Amino acid sequence: MAKVVCVLYDDPVGGYPKNYARDDLPLIERYPDGQTLPTPRAIDFRPGTLLGSVSGELGLRKYLEANGHQLVVTSSKDGVDSVLDRELHDAEIVISQPFWPAYMTAERIARAPKLKMIVTAGIGSDHTDLQAAMDRGITVAEVTYCNSNSVAEHVAMMILALVRNYIPSYRQVLDGGWNIADCVARSYDLEGMNVGTVAAGRIGLRVLRLLKPFDVKLHYMDRHRLPESVEKELNLTHHSSLESLTRVCDVVTLNCPLHPETEHMINPKTLKNFKRGAYLINTARGKLCDRDAIAAALESGQLAGYAGDVWFPQPAPADHPWRRMPHHGMTPHISGTSLSAQARYAAGTREILESYFEGRAIRNEYLVVQGGKLAGVGAHSYSAGNATGGSEEAARFRQK
Ligand code: NAD
Repeated sequence: MAKVVCVLYDDPVGGYPKNYARDDLPLIERYPDGQTLPTPRAIDFRPGTLLGSVSGELGLRKYLEANGHQLVVTSSKDGVDSVLDRELHDAEIVISQPFWPAYMTAERIARAPKLKMIVTAGIGSDHTDLQAAMDRGITVAEVTYCNSNSVAEHVAMMILALVRNYIPSYRQVLDGGWNIADCVARSYDLEGMNVGTVAAGRIGLRVLRLLKPFDVKLHYMDRHRLPESVEKELNLTHHSSLESLTRVCDVVTLNCPLHPETEHMINPKTLKNFKRGAYLINTARGKLCDRDAIAAALESGQLAGYAGDVWFPQPAPADHPWRRMPHHGMTPHISGTSLSAQARYAAGTREILESYFEGRAIRNEYLVVQGGKLAGVGAHSYSAGNATGGSEEAARFRQK
């Protein structure tokens, strides 16, 4: 019998939903590169329901208990008295979502002697100290591709929201106002702008494809070059450095994982290389950016806008400067946890658990760490080391 500890975000303030805005989800059979969607033997949930909050339990309870395992589900993850900390001593598997990450630091891993696997129900395993997992031989897996397209849609939405000044204009309506000049004095067309993505993996490439019809000029940088055919099809300009990309782009979107190589890649020094008035969209990870440098760049006008849904740490304390800086379009971390995405990553988590318990290989594309080294998507997209430093600050958050 294995003990599985699953850290999920809280239920809605008004209680777990009894009904939903829509009755079904579109049927998607494959991701754009041909990868199949998750293939568990069965699922015990209705796609389109809320699975990522505590009562949704990622639809895992029936399956785990029927196979003799114990499932502990909690949202209590930070601070010395957290349920996560109390349950770690005999946990074999820890599951959490990046939206409400269980920061699996070296200290926590050391206090979990039976821990064999850490699963990210979603994409982005930077909340786990990957070095500590490698040193202990713990497997780290994530549900590659499950919400990449969800995030890309969000990026497209946020680019348009910033460039066209949507959010302050919407606020005029809520406030009973009608000052057109106030709405449009910061409003532009996206058409013709230079738009660049830092990383052109599953999300970054999808963003490029979604933006192509807006007749923008597309740029990218990535440590893996895209096939020539894709560069031609999208008329892409490839850049070999961040500096080269930011010098020409009006809109920059960050789409790489957080790992030691990318931590604080946007900082006072690199911000100087942006065009004045550039827009920066970051739905990848908060710690890719130096948080005070972003706020200062918005204050000075070096950046015209910043939007995204990722913060460091998460949940963000009430005094996090990104809550109040000017010209931002921040939301809590939501882009990858639409109900559509939840159905995919709940099924993917089930697939990973089935493989683990049945002694079958976990899909290579889901692996981040295995056998003491980076593997699968981990070897392709991450670098070895630890990016969880400072995560204890998440304990400062208090729900109102
Ligand atoms: P992916 O593995 O398909 O792509 C990542 C890309 O980043 C790869 O092409 C890789 O070569 C590139 N890369 C890595 N290090 C780099 C570096 N130093 N410089 C340039 N490029 C680099 O992953 P994906 O599905 O596109 O997701 C990317 C990231 O987005 C995730 O790791 C996660 O942090 C974030 N994400 C956020 C949400 C959300 O809800 N906001 C959801 C999913 C993923």
